[in-house]
Amino acid sequence: MSILQTIKDKVRSRSIHVSYVDLGSCNGCDIEVLACLAPRYDIEQYGIYVHNNPREADVLIVIGAYTPGWQEKLTPLWEKIPDPKAAIAVGNCPISGCCFNRRGAYIDPPVSKHIPVAAEVPGCPPRPTEILAAILSVRDAVFANWEGRQR
Ligand code: SF4
Repeated sequence: MSILQTIKDKVRSRSIHVSYVDLGSCNGCDIEVLACLAPRYDIEQYGIYVHNNPREADVLIVIGAYTPGWQEKLTPLWEKIPDPKAAIAVGNCPISGCCFNRRGAYIDPPVSKHIPVAAEVPGCPPRPTEILAAILSVRDAVFANWEGRQR
């Protein structure tokens, strides 16, 4: 691998853009994601930027319990994200449906049935440090040396 490619891969894996989608949460997990942006956790110091344009995203954070109403929205949203990409299920809702998973409930967990999920962060809600650790774990697993692996 050329030195230029090595530098490119290094920079690429240290500049991760995150988009997030709320499938229907109680807002507990949203608040923890927002806390990641605040000075206490300061996610940008790790080269991670949160915005809501899936066409520029590398990572999709999924919050809330999946409902059939998302069937025609979530997959197109996921497909707008260019490769390489990774989805992270944050909180118990996208993993198990959490407290919303009751008989007759209008939900269809886990979200991994509907889009590929690279990491799960259980908790109700999980801590910002756990969300940050999951993003860092997929950053190293999915994005490091991506272009090298394509050849
Ligand atoms: S996992 Fe808990 S805190 Fe997060 S959205 Fe679901 S119910 Fe709310």
